[in-house]
Amino acid sequence: MSFAPRLAGMSLSLDAEQLDRYSRHIILDEVGPEGQQRLLDASALVVGAGGLGAPVVQYLAAAGVGTIGVVDDDVVERSNLQRQVIHADADVGEPKTESAKAFVERLNPDVTVETYQTRLDKANAAEIVDGYDVVVDASDNFPTRYLVNDVARLAGVPVAHGAIYKFEGQATTLTPGGPCYRCLFPEAPEPGTVPDCATTGVLGVLPGTVGCVQATEAIKLLLDAGEPLAGRVLFYDAMRMEFDEVPYRKNPDCPICGEDPVDSIEGIEYTGGCTVGSDADAAVDAD
Ligand SMILES: [Zn+2]
Repeated sequence: MSFAPRLAGMSLSLDAEQLDRYSRHIILDEVGPEGQQRLLDASALVVGAGGLGAPVVQYLAAAGVGTIGVVDDDVVERSNLQRQVIHADADVGEPKTESAKAFVERLNPDVTVETYQTRLDKANAAEIVDGYDVVVDASDNFPTRYLVNDVARLAGVPVAHGAIYKFEGQATTLTPGGPCYRCLFPEAPEPGTVPDCATTGVLGVLPGTVGCVQATEAIKLLLDAGEPLAGRVLFYDAMRMEFDEVPYRKNPDCPICGEDPVDSIEGIEYTGGCTVGSDADAAVDAD
């Protein structure tokens, strides 16, 4: 099928292959050729190429988000493959960033992947986030979640957040004008009180569901379509197959988005409770 007659007179740079590849987007009024062009011109930074990052990278790439940044310092392990669906058996031992890039290259030649084979930290975060249109927080630990929240807010970039635990997940979207992650969770749990996937296990399909919610939010933000999951946190219980939504508000005393916010992350320790100020706990990574 051809969209040429419909597109006559429009100055778009979508070529014939792109008109075909994205045809099911293009026929949607809410996306259309302009929306697809917007996605192709857009960039998304995915922090973490694990269980949540895998479906995020997969669907953003399929949707034609033109530049996808992937931050991860891990290599693929065989125990990842039960849920991290962009990595394959042959990738075991390879950096996850390289495996993610190879996956995207096979899927969609329109997409450029920028790899950051590093752990997002206080020293590199602002530079990495700079220039991206949206950040997807697909990390697996509290220090990184607070760091992503803070750096993205200071840069005015929205964040699609997601987290998983055994059979449960949560998602929320942090828009520049809305409440932030610190408004929802002012302090991280004490290090060691929330075990990670390796300790507790996780249902393999769970991050697929939550990651797809995050990818949906990222695409909506890039299209400026629909209503973002802002000021609302979505809780998902796979065992009961229930979704609950809880509203939350901006905290006027929030150090990042409140009435008297910090202007840099200089004074924040991303360890322990991730609090702003001098009372940070011992340097224990919650990962
Ligand atoms: Zn806040």
